[in-house]
Amino acid sequence: MLDNDRLARYAAAFKKDASKEFDKAVMALISLAWEKGDLSDNFLWEANPQLDAEANAILRDLSDTLAEKAKERARVAVQEMLDFDEFDTAWDQTDGDDYDTILFRLDMQGSHLKDLLAIWIALAVVNNIGKSELRVLVLRYLNNPFTSPLWKRIPIDSLRWGRGYSRNVLEQLTLIGQNAIIGAVRFAEWMDASERGAKYYIRRRGSSYACDECQELANKPIPIEVPFVIPHGRCMCYAEYFFDEIV
Ligand SMILES: [Zn+2]
Repeated sequence: MLDNDRLARYAAAFKKDASKEFDKAVMALISLAWEKGDLSDNFLWEANPQLDAEANAILRDLSDTLAEKAKERARVAVQEMLDFDEFDTAWDQTDGDDYDTILFRLDMQGSHLKDLLAIWIALAVVNNIGKSELRVLVLRYLNNPFTSPLWKRIPIDSLRWGRGYSRNVLEQLTLIGQNAIIGAVRFAEWMDASERGAKYYIRRRGSSYACDECQELANKPIPIEVPFVIPHGRCMCYAEYFFDEIV
């Protein structure tokens, strides 16, 4: 059985990767805007195709880097915790298809970041704020930009997505990577147990997080043919594998 605290530490380590890469991307985007953008109170990346392409390249790099780092963290976790050498298969199986891959989900957050920064840049121009100060403000109000004094003054109707936009992009990027790590490691453990002839497993709740699905699945035998899944973000439910027939 995997050590839950140990797995949580591999996932926690990804948080540092995400913060570091996110910070780098924010600074690169702000610098790009300052260097090549048409800085006005109506700043739009799309207004300049060259600028837009360069911004997209920075965001693609952010997604690629985070997807690679998550995969690497998961690989090391599997290497250190399991005697299992088909990590790549486990990773591919837990990565979704088409619009549900880790990369696609990271890209979605990247496009939220791009929109978020467009507004921040316009506000910085109007309020005579320099680029390093802007970086500090963006990071400080990531949880909810509407609580910053600058955003409070914007007429809400003028925002493309209205008040609903208040998701912390860094938090979402972190969650996507951490779920990929936890999911892949659990899946590798399930593959390994299946190959070694396990007949069934029992899921145990690893946290008190209120999840009906996890609660429903817990504490009863599940045939080994049913792959282990993580129904919600950072699910810490774990499996006990059994090698005798279900009685
Ligand atoms: Zn769970």
